[in-house]
Amino acid sequence: MIDFRSDTVTRPTDAMKQAMTSAELGDDVYSDDPTVNAFEQRIAKMAGFEAAMVVNSGTQSNLCALLAHCARGEEYITGQGYHTYLYEAGGAAVLGSVVPQTVVEQPSGELAFDDIKAVLKDDDQHFAMSKLLSLENTHCGKIIPLSYFQQAREFANDHGLSIHLDGARIFNALTELNIELSDICQYVDSISICFSKGLGTPMGSVLCGSKELIARARRIRKMVGGGTRQAGMIAAAMDYALDNHVTRLKDDHNNAKKLASLLAQIDGLSPRPLQTNMLYVDVEPSINDELLCQLLKAEGILISPRSPLRIVTHLDISEADIVYTADAIKDCLALMQATTA
Ligand SMILES: *Cc1c(COP(=O)(O)O)cnc(C)c1O
Repeated sequence: MIDFRSDTVTRPTDAMKQAMTSAELGDDVYSDDPTVNAFEQRIAKMAGFEAAMVVNSGTQSNLCALLAHCARGEEYITGQGYHTYLYEAGGAAVLGSVVPQTVVEQPSGELAFDDIKAVLKDDDQHFAMSKLLSLENTHCGKIIPLSYFQQAREFANDHGLSIHLDGARIFNALTELNIELSDICQYVDSISICFSKGLGTPMGSVLCGSKELIARARRIRKMVGGGTRQAGMIAAAMDYALDNHVTRLKDDHNNAKKLASLLAQIDGLSPRPLQTNMLYVDVEPSINDELLCQLLKAEGILISPRSPLRIVTHLDISEADIVYTADAIKDCLALMQATTA
């Protein structure tokens, strides 16, 4: 199957599996898994932070971060459509009594500082205490530029806020911005990075921050059942991904752009402008997109039927797959038109 549903669907390559099975292992809850320790040091240094912690998923990473930054009755400000608010089952509120305060994102994916200012709370007994700004990069494939983070830092300093960055796909952004991880991290207090998306590991994320913050986050990770033992097998996959799967993200972006340009030539389809590995395609209302996705499945192509269509490229999708997919979509649409005519 050519699976465009998400970049989470990648399978570990043979070379990655090799790295996992040959990793030196210990027990990470005793802090003596050498592969985990070396990887945490490596990624912390890359980010320019003191410490890092391997976690099972991006959701667990963000939860540990939100609860390490905020106490009960404090609030984090984030985007209405950002992952830390919308797609994490309300974990920070449910498990930490941390209050979410959302603002609507700009078309660019950024949060406007005026909007944030409008929801900031005074120090008043009626209100939850504004504590944290929780940002995201990339958001729905959109890149938030470095200058935004510089401004966010100034804003946060002026208002006594900390900043967490949900950088699930930060390497997709860095690839296009042509900057280093530490360039963005200098402006935030913590970052969460997913390795099970474009970077292709079977699981695993990492949270980076100060020693104190990561120490607090470790206790929370344990509390939510995220203390794992021979985690070096996963850290080895993540380490392998840093060496081998970062520079190739450009291929995913090029493939997405190529597909966009091929689909733009097909009647009834309007691909939206894109920056990284996520392509959104508006489909004319007269086209039954659910039927289209069903027909594509029979051709070995998986796309979730939702509008706009979301098509995500990743390391298990080749340039040849892109050409095959564009042709298949064209053929399926022609077939649908012929049968309804
Ligand atoms: C995928 C994703 C996460 C984490 O998801 P998990 O499936 O829990 O690893 C967090 N933030 C964003 C923006 C994401 O896309």
